[in-house]
Amino acid sequence: MLDVEAIRSQFPLLSEAAGRRGVCYLDNAATSHKPRAVLDAIDDCYRHHYGPVHRGLYTLAEQATARYEQARAAVARFIGAPSADRLIFTRSATEAINAVSTGWAEPRLRPGDQVWVSRLEHHSNFLPWQRVCQRTGAQLRIIELWPDGRLDFASAADLYGPRTRLIALAQVSNVLGTITPIREVVTQAQAHGIPVLVDAAQSVAHGSVNVAELGCDFLAFSAHKIGGPTGIGALYARTEHLDAMEPWLVGGGMVDEVGESQTSWAQYPAKFEAGSPNLAGAIGFAAAVDFLAGIGMERVRDHVQALTQQALRALAAMPDVQVHGPAEATGRAGIVAFNLRGVHPHDVAQLLAERGVSIRAGHHCCQPLMRFLGVPATARASFALYNSPDDVDVFIEAIHWARRVLV
Ligand code: PMP
Repeated sequence: MLDVEAIRSQFPLLSEAAGRRGVCYLDNAATSHKPRAVLDAIDDCYRHHYGPVHRGLYTLAEQATARYEQARAAVARFIGAPSADRLIFTRSATEAINAVSTGWAEPRLRPGDQVWVSRLEHHSNFLPWQRVCQRTGAQLRIIELWPDGRLDFASAADLYGPRTRLIALAQVSNVLGTITPIREVVTQAQAHGIPVLVDAAQSVAHGSVNVAELGCDFLAFSAHKIGGPTGIGALYARTEHLDAMEPWLVGGGMVDEVGESQTSWAQYPAKFEAGSPNLAGAIGFAAAVDFLAGIGMERVRDHVQALTQQALRALAAMPDVQVHGPAEATGRAGIVAFNLRGVHPHDVAQLLAERGVSIRAGHHCCQPLMRFLGVPATARASFALYNSPDDVDVFIEAIHWARRVLV
């Protein structure tokens, strides 16, 4: 177990507010709180090292450029990228996936080609593929689920077939918490020459993610779910794709030579970072991954898994609570979606809010999955490194109370 008190003391919003009233924040799958190291890094950037990136020869500009590239190296290291130049800063995981759908897939897909996703995808890893298929005449195929939410590969007999051009899968479901066997998918896909995109928006918060070990072609994630700032994310891609891919945005900073009618692009990563870079965002992102690496992602994973197990056991003992996804914490990350029979999840979340417990209720940007679950929405608790067993107790006690009020 982690020393939660020591960790929490490094999160101003959680520790300073705790003096007034306990903050039981269990909406970490939506976004996470920020450690002081991140806030200080951003503050230090604006106070002492701020300037244009890749655009000046004076000291502040050179410092800004060096720090931006150091930040890229830190984030690349965090996901085990073999070199920093394969890491493109984007606005978010969403933008990273759209970058691949428009810059890589759209020029390549032909009528009759297939792109595969699964039924549990977040809309951010569903809609870009749906749209690119509509635009190109390709077909969007869906890997269905077993009743417990694991991917049913038997439902996807031609997943590795000759018409498949890309497989795009979340490594961790933001609703069910299920962990997708990405390594196995990549091994099979590679044997058939099929690229794989990994939506790592949730998985980066729940364990170590290593692109070299996964062998994936593309990987997308955001900073804000792992203690970093909003407004910045990353796309990792293999070099052959970065060479072949079209930039999805064009403008300043990403060109080699601009003619009146023809332009050549700069070498990646600049090729994919049109416009003034998000310097403070990148610096905050790097501080967040360094903070997590300092604690150790295996320790974070074990801690969150123990909290998840505690929550799952307590919820399983409530007959009117239906938990979605696998019954045990092994094979799932720290995300627990559930319904209280006969009660709308919004009412559950609202009552829990009265008890100071922040959980999410809604379709979680996963409407195709909601249809599979047969519900319009679920409640969802999601855990992070700064949550404690006491937080789980407070959450469970609040659910008991909500059941007494609502059921
Ligand atoms: N994929 C998954 C699995 C997610 O949970 C999310 C965020 N909820 C996203 C993609 C999109 O992330 P962002 O909103 O930061 O772009």
